[in-house]
Amino acid sequence: MLNAFTVDVEEWFHVCRAERYLPRDRWESLPSRVERGVDAIRTLCDRYSFRATFFVLGWVAERHPAMIRSLAADGHEIACHGHDHTVLFDQRPSSFREDLARATSLLTGIAGSPPQGYRAPEWSVTRETAWALDEIARAGYLYDASHLPSRICGRPGLRRWPHLISTDAGTIAEFPATTLSLLRQRLPCLSGFSLRCFPLSVLRRHIEKVRGAERPVSVAVHPWEFDPDPPRAPLPWGRGFAHYFRIRSTPPKVEALCSAFRFAPMRDVLAALFPPLRDRLRRNAPTSGRYAPADDTPLAGRPS
Ligand SMILES: [Zn+2]
Repeated sequence: MLNAFTVDVEEWFHVCRAERYLPRDRWESLPSRVERGVDAIRTLCDRYSFRATFFVLGWVAERHPAMIRSLAADGHEIACHGHDHTVLFDQRPSSFREDLARATSLLTGIAGSPPQGYRAPEWSVTRETAWALDEIARAGYLYDASHLPSRICGRPGLRRWPHLISTDAGTIAEFPATTLSLLRQRLPCLSGFSLRCFPLSVLRRHIEKVRGAERPVSVAVHPWEFDPDPPRAPLPWGRGFAHYFRIRSTPPKVEALCSAFRFAPMRDVLAALFPPLRDRLRRNAPTSGRYAPADDTPLAGRPS
């Protein structure tokens, strides 16, 4: 079973709802570190011979087009993380439409083909912001990866595994964040703070169990978690704790998962799960070379 490896490409200062501590008009003057984090993640992908999905902020793409072009040329999937990292709870359909159109146009121009996947800042597509799924489909996207089916940072009522969703503009796939059950709660486990909290042995066991049920998981990381010495955003204690807790544990833990399990771009994992979307999802995939999906299997990761 292939699993999805994803990266939310943002700077260390793109912290959601932190306008008070990191005003937008100061972003331009802050030091950029995104390239060194992305480089470290690319090295990891090369070491374990797989390709990943990079959900890129339009704001970052505008300032680092060569990095995005190079990722695309290298066979990685370029997907969209919106333009300026505004959570959907703070947006209306009209402002979301503008934010998405701006990021989509930038990414299409730079990468050479339109992004097919979208992930909202801070998993902010929920039942309350479900209108966003219509907008995403209308903008030509084939999948969303913004649901977090957990009370912690997400919404408990959302579905747990990849599924299809009917929207006003057609059917798209949803790949929710991976969760595990503990003390009758569903908790995120393969992204950000949660990935750093759970011991590696627990994560390995969970992925093996999920694999036994023939389901894929999704790992989500950020460039600033792979920066050996990231600048610290001036956040209040609680938020700072969650943001930076055991941050140095991310690279070795993720590397251990890469050495034990097979990963691929989210596009390829969904293409294998949902035949009706397969041809369209594979439109941007490499057509030859070691990362090209095979005709009858979703193989785009490392050889078994
Ligand atoms: Zn983000």
